Amino acid sequence: MTQNSSLACYACDPALSRGRRYPEPAAPTRNDYQRDRDRIVHSSAFRRLVYKTQVFLNHEGDLFRTRLTHSLEVAQLGRSIARSLRINEDLVEAISLAHDLGHTPFGHAGQDALNGCMHAHGGFEHNLQSLRVVDHLEERYPDYDGINLTFETREGVLKHCSQANAQRLELNEPGGVGGRFLRKEQPSLEAQLCNLADEIAYNAHDIDDGVRSGLITLAQLTDVPLFDHYRRVAQAEHPHLGGTAMERRLLYEAIRRMLSAQVYDVIEATSAALASAAPRSVDDVRMAATLVGFSAPMRAQSSELKRFLFKDLYRHPQVVETTGRAQRVVTELFAAYVAQPGEMKPRFARQALEGEPPARARTVADYIAGMTDRFAGREHERLTGLRLLG
Ligand code: MG
Repeated sequence: MTQNSSLACYACDPALSRGRRYPEPAAPTRNDYQRDRDRIVHSSAFRRLVYKTQVFLNHEGDLFRTRLTHSLEVAQLGRSIARSLRINEDLVEAISLAHDLGHTPFGHAGQDALNGCMHAHGGFEHNLQSLRVVDHLEERYPDYDGINLTFETREGVLKHCSQANAQRLELNEPGGVGGRFLRKEQPSLEAQLCNLADEIAYNAHDIDDGVRSGLITLAQLTDVPLFDHYRRVAQAEHPHLGGTAMERRLLYEAIRRMLSAQVYDVIEATSAALASAAPRSVDDVRMAATLVGFSAPMRAQSSELKRFLFKDLYRHPQVVETTGRAQRVVTELFAAYVAQPGEMKPRFARQALEGEPPARARTVADYIAGMTDRFAGREHERLTGLRLLG
C-alpha cells in the first residue's frame, strides 16, 4: 500500500515500515498498520481487557471503565488528534488498542504486587509485558509465537522500559524496539500521541468514575481549575443544570468541554512544535525532542488534575483497602504457582516445570498477568479457600 497523500512527511508510512519479525507478503486490501490493528482486536489478550480493572475492580459496578473501554477511548482521542496532525491514524489506533494488553488483573495494585514478587527475577513492567503478549504469549500462528506486529506498532506498545530490560531486548533483537531507550531517542509521533491520549483519557474518565462511585464529589472538584473552569462555562450556558437532579449532565458537559479543550491544545501545541523542529521524516522525529504535547499552561493544569486524582481518588481509603486485598490475591497466587506449577493451565505448567527458578517465576508472572480480575479471584479462592474479592 502506498502512503496516503494526505499524510505529512513525518507520519509513519506503512510502505516504509521497518517490517515484521517474520516477513509476510502484503495483504491485498489492508495496509500493515490496519492488519496490526485487526490482529490485536482478534487476540485473546484483547478480549480479556473487558474484565480487567482500570481503577475500580470489575465486580464493583458495571458502568465503570475497564481496560477495554479505556483502550477504546484512547483510540478515539488518538485518532481524532492524528487526523488533524496528518499523522497515521491506523497506526495510532493499533498502538492505542494494544497499549494495555500487558496489564495485570486489579490495575496498578496488581502490577505493583507482581513487580514485588518478581523482584529477584528482573521485576515486572506492564509496558514490557504488553510487548511480551504481542511478541510471545499469543498463540495464533502455526510457525511462531505472538502476532507478528510491525516494528512501529511494537515501538509504540513499549512506551517505557528500564535500561536493564532495554539492554536485554537489544541483545535478543539487535536494532529492535529496545534500542531507543539506550540511545535516548523518541518513538514515532504516533507513539508519542498514544502516550498523551492515554493520559487525557484516564484523567477524564477517572473523574467520571470517581463521581459515579461517590468517592469524589462535584464540590471537591472546584479545587481543580481545569475541570472547574469548564463546569462554570457549562453552568452559565445551561443554568438549569444547577440542581442535584441534573448533576450528572453537568458533569458530562464539563468533562466533554475539558476533553475538547485538551484535544485542541495538543493539536495547536504539537503543530507549533512540528513547525519549529521541521522534521522531514520519521527518523528526524526520532532524533528530535518529544514533539507531541500540551502547551505549558495546559500541562500545568493537567498535572494539577492528576495530583487531585492521585490524592483524592487513587489514595482514597476505600480504594486503598480494595487495593490491599487485590495485592494479597496476586502475591498469594504467585507463591502458590511457584510451589505447585501443576496448578496452572497445561501450557504454563509444562513451561514452568521445564525451567530453572528465574524462568519458572517469569512463566508464573506471565500466567498471572494474563488473568482477568474475576479469574484471579476465583483461582485464589480455589487454591487458598479464602474469598477476598467479590
Ligand atoms: Mg492506558
